[in-house]
Amino acid sequence: MTRAFDTDAIHAGYDYLGNGDAVSPPIYASAAFDMESAVRGDALAAGTAEGFSYSRVANPTVDALEKRIAKLEGGVGAVAVASGMAAVSFALLCAAEGGGRIVSPSNLYGASVDAMESFFPQFGIHADFVHDINDLDEVASKIGPDTRAIFAESVANPSTEITDLEPLAALAHEHGIPLIVDNTVPTPYLLRPIEFGADIVVHSTTKGITGHGNAIGGVVVDAGNFDWSNGRFPQFTTPELVVSDERNGIEHSFFSRYGREAFIRRIRIKYLRTFGAVPSPFNAYLSMIGLETLPVRAEREVATARRIAAHLTRTPHVIKVNYSGLGNTPQFDLLPKYFPKGVGQILSFLVDGDESNVRRILDGVRVFSYVPNIGDARSLIVDPARITHREVPAKYRIAAGVTDNLIRLSIGLEDADDLIADLDQAIANAY
Ligand SMILES: *Cc1c(COP(=O)(O)O)cnc(C)c1O
Repeated sequence: MTRAFDTDAIHAGYDYLGNGDAVSPPIYASAAFDMESAVRGDALAAGTAEGFSYSRVANPTVDALEKRIAKLEGGVGAVAVASGMAAVSFALLCAAEGGGRIVSPSNLYGASVDAMESFFPQFGIHADFVHDINDLDEVASKIGPDTRAIFAESVANPSTEITDLEPLAALAHEHGIPLIVDNTVPTPYLLRPIEFGADIVVHSTTKGITGHGNAIGGVVVDAGNFDWSNGRFPQFTTPELVVSDERNGIEHSFFSRYGREAFIRRIRIKYLRTFGAVPSPFNAYLSMIGLETLPVRAEREVATARRIAAHLTRTPHVIKVNYSGLGNTPQFDLLPKYFPKGVGQILSFLVDGDESNVRRILDGVRVFSYVPNIGDARSLIVDPARITHREVPAKYRIAAGVTDNLIRLSIGLEDADDLIADLDQAIANAY
C-alpha cells in the first residue's frame, strides 16, 4: 500500500512487533549483538542472514532511521552516518574512487567546497567547478573520460538558487555518470530528487530532518537505478574478498553480488565499516523523532519565511533579499515544477553600510539566535562570509553572493510577528 509522506514520516521503517511493543523506537545502546548459534553467526558474517552483529556496520535503531529515510526519499536503501560531511565525503569518494573527477557548482556548502578544492585532490580525486550548474553546455564541456559524477545541491545555501535537476540528470546519464544531490536544504518533504532522476541523495540530517538542532548526522540514499557496470567504475566490478565466499570458491564484485544496490552496499561495507563514521543509536532516535514532525514544521517554517522575505524587501537598509520563493530570482519559473510546497526556511539579505552595521544587527537580535546552523525549531541568524563560508576561497565565495554585508536567516517555529519585530528593531538600531 502506498501511503502519504506524512504517514510514512511517522510509521515507515519501524514495527513495534519485535521491539517490545514500544510505540516510540527503542534506543538500542548495544555495541554488539548475540549471534544465537554457530550456523546463524556464519550466515550473519557472510551477509546471507538478516540481523545485527556489530553496531559499526548496523544497529536496530539506526536501521529504522535508514529505512524510514529511504522510504521518504523513494530510494532502495540508505546508510546513516555520523554527520552530513561524512555523507557528502563517502558518496563523492565512493563514486570517484581510484582517481576520478567530479563536476559540480562552486556555490556548495563551505566544507564541501573545501573538501573538493583542497582535500580530495590529496586522494587523487578532483573537482571541475562550473559557474552555473543550470547551464548544461557549460556542464557538458567539463565532462571527460575520467568524470565519475555530477554533484549539486538541490537548493543552494545561502542564495536559495534552485538546481534544475531533471535535465541535469538526463545529461549525466547520457554520459554514463550518476547525479549525486545534496538535498539538505529542502528536505524530502519539499523535494524528492530521485523523482527527477537523481541517482544518489545525501543529507545532513543535522538540519531540517532532525529539526531541533540537537544531533549531528547524515545519510546517503541510493535510488537503485544506476548501472555501475558500464565500464567507468572499476571499483564496483573488481572482485573483492569482503563480498565473496572464499571457502566455496565463489568470487564476487559489489556489482555481481548486489547489482543496482552496489553503491549503497559499498557505502556500508567499505566506507562505514572502514572509516567508521557511525551515528550513535541515540542520535538516530532523535532524527526519527524529528522526522515525525517534519511535514508540519516545514509547512509552518516556509509560510513564515515567505512573510519575512516579503517584509525584508520593504525594510529600510535592506538592499536585496535572496529567496527563490519570492519571485525575484532567475529560477522562479522552476518553482512550480520542483517546489509546489515552497523552497524552504532559509533566506538571506544584503544590507547597506559596512561590516559594523552587520555586527550590530547580529548583536541586536533578541529572538533570533546567532548560530552557524539551519533547520532548527529556533530561528537563527549568521554572517556567512565570516562563519559558514570562511573556508571557501574568495573567488567562489563572492561568485556565490556571499559578501561581507550578507546576512542569512534560518526560520524556525516562533511567532512570525515576533520574528519580524525582532529583525525590525535590530536593523533600525544598527544605523
Ligand atoms: C550542514 C550541511 C552539510 C554538512 O552537514 P554536517 O551535519 O554539519 O556535517 C552538508 N551540506 C549542506 C547543504 C549542509 O547544509
